[in-house]
Amino acid sequence: MTAKGTLRTTRILLRVLVCVACLLAAGIAYAATPDDCHALRKHGRRAEAQKCYESLTAARDPFTRAEGFWGTEQYQEANNQFRLATEQSPQNAMIRARWGRLMHERFNNTEAANLFNEALQRDPKNAQAYYGLGLVSADGFDSKAVEYTRKAIDLDPKLFEAHELMANLLLEDSNEARAFEEADVALKLSPEALDAMAVHAAIELLADRSPDSWLEKIHQVNPVYGEGYALIAHHLVLNRRYVDGITYYRKAVEADPRLWSARSQLGINLMRLGQEDEPRKQLEMCYENGFRNEETVNSLRLLDSYKNFLTLKEGDTILKLNKKEADLLRPYFAAEMKRIYAAYDKKYKMKLPGPVQVEVYPDHEDFAVRTMGMPGLGALGVTFGLVIAMDSPSGRPPGEFHWGSTLWHEMSHVYILTATNFRVPRWFTEGLAVHEETEVSPEWGDRMTPDIVVAIRDKKLLPVADLDRGFIRPEYPNQVIVSYYQAGRICDYIKERWGADKLLDMVHSFAAHKTTPDVIRADLGMAPEEFDKQFMEWLDKSVGKTVANFDQWRTKLKDVASQAKNKNYDAVLKQGEEVRRLYPDYIYPANPYEFMAEADMAKGDKAAAAEILTAYEKIGGHNPPALKQLAALELEQGKPADAAATLDRLNYVYPVDEDLHRRLGDLWFAQNNFPGAIREYNAVVSMGPIDKASAQVNLARAYFAAGQKDKAEDHVLASLEVAPDYRPAQKLLLQLKDSNEGK
Ligand SMILES: [Zn+2]
Repeated sequence: MTAKGTLRTTRILLRVLVCVACLLAAGIAYAATPDDCHALRKHGRRAEAQKCYESLTAARDPFTRAEGFWGTEQYQEANNQFRLATEQSPQNAMIRARWGRLMHERFNNTEAANLFNEALQRDPKNAQAYYGLGLVSADGFDSKAVEYTRKAIDLDPKLFEAHELMANLLLEDSNEARAFEEADVALKLSPEALDAMAVHAAIELLADRSPDSWLEKIHQVNPVYGEGYALIAHHLVLNRRYVDGITYYRKAVEADPRLWSARSQLGINLMRLGQEDEPRKQLEMCYENGFRNEETVNSLRLLDSYKNFLTLKEGDTILKLNKKEADLLRPYFAAEMKRIYAAYDKKYKMKLPGPVQVEVYPDHEDFAVRTMGMPGLGALGVTFGLVIAMDSPSGRPPGEFHWGSTLWHEMSHVYILTATNFRVPRWFTEGLAVHEETEVSPEWGDRMTPDIVVAIRDKKLLPVADLDRGFIRPEYPNQVIVSYYQAGRICDYIKERWGADKLLDMVHSFAAHKTTPDVIRADLGMAPEEFDKQFMEWLDKSVGKTVANFDQWRTKLKDVASQAKNKNYDAVLKQGEEVRRLYPDYIYPANPYEFMAEADMAKGDKAAAAEILTAYEKIGGHNPPALKQLAALELEQGKPADAAATLDRLNYVYPVDEDLHRRLGDLWFAQNNFPGAIREYNAVVSMGPIDKASAQVNLARAYFAAGQKDKAEDHVLASLEVAPDYRPAQKLLLQLKDSNEGK
């Protein structure tokens, strides 16, 4: 159909609508169809649409009744009628496709997908069913979304909704040019393709141009189309423009106060910016009106759990810590934040506009609520403007999580998002943040995992110009992790070849809204394709050997593991050394370093065990039992300073360990590092140890040695309070008294 023809159809359709509306208003018997009602709604004529849908609920056939109940928000009854309709017409694919859409709208994607698949079993060429699968997959940023939507378009090229969905997916992938084209295709098919207009408006806004002409077009068709604003808001949030996203979610609920999906997102995004009162109001309104999707329910639960948190002001930081671990974590987080501000202020040559709120969640599920509905991993930490939410070290198995790396990573985002006013592609801000982790210490940050080695071997790294795609819509498992690694190494490479200031130049270019290809050309002086080539050559020099050795490594590591299991220690030591050289970065579970240390210990060669564990430590290994063993060996070898430094590393990994703090406190006390000893003994006390009396005395002793007699006395008394006869406390109290008299 030509555009002109479509326009004519629309005019006729409008005239028909007017008729349907007046007939219904006049109470004249007219059997409206679901399409009549959908059209009224599409034009924002809500009251008439409501009447229209009501009239459908009395229809003779259950399929029509289902549409009527759905349109009047009687979802349970709509569901019943769909069931009835499928019982009457079991082979009808269309009923299942529509039923699936209802399920999708009512947060049951599993059931929705089942129904779409059932529809396809009955009619393999059902475009609506593929479109439905596209919608379901789009919710989870599944790469199949593109595939399904493409299929729907192939089967029915005139299905403008499928083109709208495709435009939306392409824009999610930051492919503005192709999103623009798809939106135009939809508009050619239907001049009333409202979501295509919204995609256009979003493209304009993301490029900092005015969306007004598109918003006006939407308004002309449907003055109360909140979904359009919500779609724009979704893209702003995806691009981390939370404040702008909130503005558009507000417009969405202003246009349509019953658009609960948008109201829920408004609440969730206000929470991301650290607010509590308004989000609670908005989310409760959604909940009370029956909008109870996972995100809404979990966000309300998270708001309730805030009563278990303390909000602590520490210099330029607002720490939000769970009461049960606030005393323990506070000093470590406060000190680290101070260190980060100092480093980044200097490095990025800027100051942040306000305090940063750091929220630390001991329950991983609470943290996960923060990242629901967002692409990517969101595994350990996430940044929303000046708010960081992250896992607590206590929420993860010991050794799995380096909270220090995560905090530096997220804080890099805070600076870079601020510096660019949120106009920075995902790959670059992630790459820089990953790069910063190893800048703090070469031992920090993640190592190249086997998944990454395989991706490099199979040439699955993306061109820099397309790298964003690897974060949003992964095409193979672990592509997100591979993309983090690649982006990080790109930043390593840029720093190594052009210097650290070049990275800052790029930050400023992105702030000026240049695209990735433009920034590569302008700041690095080469075409993106040439950059990819040279980067790959550089990367190959660094990891090529490991990649080439990979299969051999895998076989040999298995062998070492079984030798270790059978206690064939000589074999472990001989083969372990070889395996280690094949892939030195492998520090993850079942690594050769720990196997070899175990063998050395079994053979009584403590010096060799210490040597291999030191190599493990230096390459970034941080499994707590291994490092504790190393510290013990270092102490035996007469290197207490090394032992303390080893244990101190674990404070960044798993500080929820009384034994660690006691041992480190003792070491530092013996080395006259009294502030360090005070911090560690305080940590012991904060963990509520069984032997409170000795914990308090140790702390008192450290304070005394540091010249803080008042505090020393407080803690001696605390010790005597729990154990009045405890001799070391009595002795220390006398010492304190003597020293006061002597003064
Ligand atoms: Zn990140």
